[in-house]
Amino acid sequence: MPANKKLLVLPGDGIGPEVVREVRRVIDWLDRRRQVTFDVEEGLVGGAAIDALGHPCPDRTMEQALGADAILFGSVGGPKWDSLPFEGRPELGILRLRKELGLFANLRPAIVWSPLAQASSLKADLVDGLDLMIVRESTGGIYFGEPRGIETLPDGTRRGFDTETYSEEEIVRVARVAFELAAKRSGRLTSVEKANVMQSGRFWREIVTRTAAEFPSVQLSHMYADNCAMQLASRPKQFDVILASNLFGDLLSDLAAAVTGSLGMLPSATLGAPDSSGRRHALYEPIHGSAPDIAGKGIANPCAQILSFAMLLRWSFGMEEDARLIENAVEKVLSGGLRTADIMVPGAARVGTSIMGEAVVRELDKMAA
Ligand code: NAD
Repeated sequence: MPANKKLLVLPGDGIGPEVVREVRRVIDWLDRRRQVTFDVEEGLVGGAAIDALGHPCPDRTMEQALGADAILFGSVGGPKWDSLPFEGRPELGILRLRKELGLFANLRPAIVWSPLAQASSLKADLVDGLDLMIVRESTGGIYFGEPRGIETLPDGTRRGFDTETYSEEEIVRVARVAFELAAKRSGRLTSVEKANVMQSGRFWREIVTRTAAEFPSVQLSHMYADNCAMQLASRPKQFDVILASNLFGDLLSDLAAAVTGSLGMLPSATLGAPDSSGRRHALYEPIHGSAPDIAGKGIANPCAQILSFAMLLRWSFGMEEDARLIENAVEKVLSGGLRTADIMVPGAARVGTSIMGEAVVRELDKMAA
């Protein structure tokens, strides 16, 4: 039997624990049926960690994260903690994990599952079969650059400012992730910046172009970020892999998510740099938040969390076959007509979180039989 894989599960707040519970069913299924064992440890993050230990990402959680082979993250935040000062908010839990684990490459697929093409804000034929991946740099750029602040000038007027800054090394390492991914997919990569008006954009384009020489099988093109937003909103299927800075990637990946029309279906991965043995820190989470408006009602869609686990199997453990099995099981459940409220269509059967999770496991059973 393959060696144990150390998995840290951080359910967090709101619907986080509800959807993570459904992943536990899938993990149990894999343990039973595929003869892969996981050492699953749970930890505290976000509001739950503030309540228990007074910090959104306590040192104990950091220790667990550093020792894990992969992290499955639920979601954090909620009205209960909204009045806390900025430095103590639940959302800072994820930032500490990203920063201290060096998670610099955020992978956000935007996939339209055929049974859900009607849910998109675009016409179904423009999105049916959409399967693109946005690689967003996630530890640099304008969200972290110095100087930043709000100041009062000698003449009494005030100004706010941030700095967009990228080192060569920061661009190369995230570009390599995007090129590797493109090489395994269609061989097409679109790098996005504003080289026409930003020096950091010119530099980004120069370094990405140079890095392309390492990946002769990939066809690289460049696009200005504003044009990319327009193209995503009108002809998204032209793209395969998109590479962008922290700021542009943030905006474009939300836009791509909106185009799919199903927040409850979209997973993500955030990867660190591999060490000499090829091991890398990595965190997997749905792109949705803690959805306080529906928390505790048992109606959240667990698919994004389940699909985040599929990404974990693929990226952290090289278990492509099992990842595909889970993705196919989710698709089969949708084709069979089961829907949680967020993806409901007329004529489908509306179910809650646990029925959806059970249905995925039942499909896994059928496919593995
Ligand atoms: P949200 O993603 O939590 O919810 C937006 C809307 O989508 C809500 O109507 C919600 O009910 C619905 N929704 C989200 N996930 C769903 C699912 N799986 N199934 C069915 N419906 C779903 O975003 P928000 O309302 O802007 O934020 C709520 C809280 O989550 C805030 O405290 C925010 O800071 C936090 N947040 C956390 C993360 C994270 O943990 N990484 C990400 C985004 C937001």
